[in-house]
Amino acid sequence: MTSKICHYCLSKLDRDTVGLNKKLLGRQTKQFLCLKCLQGYLEVTEEELLEKIQYYKDQGCTLFV
Ligand SMILES: [Zn+2]
Repeated sequence: MTSKICHYCLSKLDRDTVGLNKKLLGRQTKQFLCLKCLQGYLEVTEEELLEKIQYYKDQGCTLFV
């Protein structure tokens, strides 16, 4: 898996963030955003994004293993 960078601010993305992008934007998405930029894009708080990551992990989603 190649490392991805944020489409907006070019910061490096960790695996959880990439997984969350695929969940929220679709697996075919070519644009990946860091948590900070995702907040602005989706108009949610960082806490909500972290909760979503935890939620998908708890479900055993393969994107987060
Ligand atoms: Zn960013």
